[in-house]
Amino acid sequence: MNPVGVVRNDCTDPAQAMQMQDAESVILVDEAFADALHMIDSCEYLDVVFHLHLPETGGRTKTGTAAGAETDADSGTVSDAAAGTGADSGTVSDAAAGTGAEPKTEPASETAGGWKRTTRSGELRGVFASRAPVRPNPVGITTVRLVARDGNRLRVTGLDVVDGTPVLDIKSCNTSHLDDAPCGASNHIHTSLLKSNPRLAIQRYIHAGDTEKLLMLAAQFHGHYCPGLAMGVMAAVHAMQELDRDNAYPDSVTDDAKPAETGGEKASGPESDGLEDLLAIVETNNCFADGVQLVTGCSFGNNSLIFEDLGKTAFTLTRRDGNGVRVISRHESPAYVREAFPEFDRHYQRVVKEKVRDDAAVAAFRKSGVERSFGTLNLDFNRMFEVQRVRVDVPEYAPSHESCVCANCGESVMATRMVDGGDVSTRGPNTPATTVENRKLCLKCAGKPYSVLDGHGIRISGG
Ligand SMILES: [Zn+2]
Ligand SMILES: [Zn+2]
Repeated sequence: MNPVGVVRNDCTDPAQAMQMQDAESVILVDEAFADALHMIDSCEYLDVVFHLHLPETGGRTKTGTAAGAETDADSGTVSDAAAGTGADSGTVSDAAAGTGAEPKTEPASETAGGWKRTTRSGELRGVFASRAPVRPNPVGITTVRLVARDGNRLRVTGLDVVDGTPVLDIKSCNTSHLDDAPCGASNHIHTSLLKSNPRLAIQRYIHAGDTEKLLMLAAQFHGHYCPGLAMGVMAAVHAMQELDRDNAYPDSVTDDAKPAETGGEKASGPESDGLEDLLAIVETNNCFADGVQLVTGCSFGNNSLIFEDLGKTAFTLTRRDGNGVRVISRHESPAYVREAFPEFDRHYQRVVKEKVRDDAAVAAFRKSGVERSFGTLNLDFNRMFEVQRVRVDVPEYAPSHESCVCANCGESVMATRMVDGGDVSTRGPNTPATTVENRKLCLKCAGKPYSVLDGHGIRISGG
């Protein structure tokens, strides 16, 4: 294995390496791997793989002297290693298989030679169950925080190795597989609840007004953080809560009779079940609309999202009875957001306008964008939005149509999106509508115009 870089810090004593975790270390990456650092600025946490190169820091030598190895299972990789080195116990498989292969060097401690060590607290642990430095292979790994990058110099905190430690690899840290908490499914009880109500966690966040959690969920859907998305979340949470208040205090229900807000299986207020009982009407197709979709559950796919191509950052939330709430972004709100986060404009100017695209500039731009998005959530709602109570002309439930098969492309098509494309007289009275003899064509095959919704809004295409 060839090192890709080296650690530079003020620590020369392995026994002190743990103390380095609070201080900064620099990882000096070899020029040969400069391009391997591309976009590393966007990683806040990195896994650093390094060579435990000093015999006393675990570098297992063939002549390893088996001093009384005392390690600390709970803590660092290196600091406690000064106490001893690993005895050479022959092949790893011997040790792992528990064949009882005796070490070539007689161990001084009762555990040396095998892969168990007594920790400082007196606990006996296998090396695979600890971070002890004396290991089958002299390889260490530590998750660090990237403080800043200056060319091929990475300033990090959390590294617990001595000056001069060879770095073997650097990886972006990824623990997402361990964490299903964002959707609330962190245990099997939650998982089963979510199977009966997939929007449980979202409803909880709406009730609690936890716009930050909702923004995180919305961004999973939207792909990035931006103030527009944050505004969509804010507007939608407000509308959901307002309809919720209507629902929670109907005239016929006294406060005493009202079900408790917490602990109840059924949350009060609007609940989108994706079956069109709650409808959202958005007035433009931009980032704002995705925040609305996530929070309200009214989406393009479940026919609960209505699009009015008006180019306004506004949306209406309504129940089937037509009692709705319309939330409109005030014309002053973009300036208000801009002034609240001047940093972002500076980075925007550099990266977008002046097209400075080096890693550091792009990373700084993204970081400030994220900060501005989350920061937007804490701005004064009333300075950003106007709220109206509105009566809405609610459309009928979306009809379901049978499907036919296009005589030309053979693809299944909703019946209302087909046109006659040929000699209908050839079709017998009992011919199923889905057969080729139907001579029905899809709009595309028939060369007829059809509506398209894209970044420009609704337009007519083809024909
Ligand atoms: Zn966006
Ligand atoms: Zn077709």
